[in-house]
Amino acid sequence: MKIVMVGSGYVGLVSGACFADFGHEVVCVDKMESKIAALKQGEIPIFEPGLSELVRSNTEAKRLSFTTDLAGPVAQADAVFIAVGTPSRRGDGFADLSYVYAAAREIAHALDGYTVIVTKSTVPVGTGDEVERIIRELRPDADFAVVSNPEFLREGAAIDDFKRPDRIVIGTDDPRAQTLMADVYRPLYLNSAPILNTSRRTAELTKYAANAFLATKITFINEMADLCEQVGANVQDVARGMGLDNRIGSKFLHAGPGYGGSCFPKDTLALIKTAQDYGTPSRIVEAVASVNDLRKRAMAKKVVAACGGSVRGKTIAVLGLTFKPNTDDMRDAPSLSIVTALQDGGATIRAFDPEGMEQAKGMLPGGVVYCNDAYECVEGAHAAVIVTEWNIFRALDFQRLKATMAAPVLIDLRNVYRAEQVRAKGFTYVDVGRGVLA
Ligand code: NAD
Repeated sequence: MKIVMVGSGYVGLVSGACFADFGHEVVCVDKMESKIAALKQGEIPIFEPGLSELVRSNTEAKRLSFTTDLAGPVAQADAVFIAVGTPSRRGDGFADLSYVYAAAREIAHALDGYTVIVTKSTVPVGTGDEVERIIRELRPDADFAVVSNPEFLREGAAIDDFKRPDRIVIGTDDPRAQTLMADVYRPLYLNSAPILNTSRRTAELTKYAANAFLATKITFINEMADLCEQVGANVQDVARGMGLDNRIGSKFLHAGPGYGGSCFPKDTLALIKTAQDYGTPSRIVEAVASVNDLRKRAMAKKVVAACGGSVRGKTIAVLGLTFKPNTDDMRDAPSLSIVTALQDGGATIRAFDPEGMEQAKGMLPGGVVYCNDAYECVEGAHAAVIVTEWNIFRALDFQRLKATMAAPVLIDLRNVYRAEQVRAKGFTYVDVGRGVLA
């Protein structure tokens, strides 16, 4: 099948490369000329494990190509996926759909023959209707259907998630489009990935409901962690005790600095807005978003407390900047709020992240000293803070850290270590939700 992916970011590039790997002929389109030029040279503009190899092999096999001009490929295509960004709109938090609608207009002009247009971007309920209206208005003659096919992949494990999804949601009432989508995903049927055929609006809402639920799970365990600290209980054991119940499940029950990333913060806000607009406010999701918002700065307070009540004039080493390991994505990362709050408190920040520093430089406030590894990062620091649980922070040499730090203080916002183990090395150690009664 001939597939066009409009938008070659985390989702578009991974989906495009995986579809090509299934044997489809895929053209990835992006507006950013530098991105397409890099991809044509075999350079991958994002960090995602395994992606470089997948892009290389499929480009060599001539199943995957890149362009800035969608007209030719769209005219030839059986399916055109829209995988552009849908960030929070400035001011009201609703999803900014301008990129989606701009893509729809460009696609409309290029349509030739029956084509299925698929929104893979996360879009609010009713966006598919609007995309259809835009295309119909510009091209009354066109033969097309608009389908919702939300993407559930996680950055850092994106290829595996795409190739072995928990489910594929296809939202359309059009039987012809349903058959075509079944062909697009046919290679995955062999892995018996459940396909859920729904209405378009149902598919659109399913994505938001899933993300809001996961954000709720994280926020719930974070609140339990705060309570654990007060009552002298251990949140990891609480989470284990909860998670072994099959009705609950153990995933997304890790206490930490609050959720971040390019999806949960914006998707919860967009769902809140949609629910308000339709007169059915989602109080739970509203509470989740505001609790999570407060949590990030609260983590900075934890650091301040561990430093004896003030960080003024002190140096803090931040280990990990991205919102989670195995990605270079800095969008809405908790580190952004934590670093800002510590700087507000008068601290000098030294930072290290294995993949996210280039993106971080454009997003963190000025004055941050970027380092080449964890040991350089902690030089002269009055405290080190693990913000992202990259593997390389899981087996730190505490003797080496202690030798270069101004004070042996470790704040472990991901509960990577066992308290006794770190304290035995002479460190002051603070974690999340593993309370010990004084
Ligand atoms: P991204 O910002 O990495 O990529 C979007 C790309 O679209 C950019 O490269 C941009 O230049 C390009 N673009 C914008 N308008 C264009 C146009 N008219 N023509 C061609 N290219 C255009 O975004 P992303 O993280 O890949 O997310 C895309 C969508 O997928 C969002 O709606 C997001 O919510 C959703 N999603 C993301 C993830 C994730 O983990 N990143 C997971 C599931 C769903």
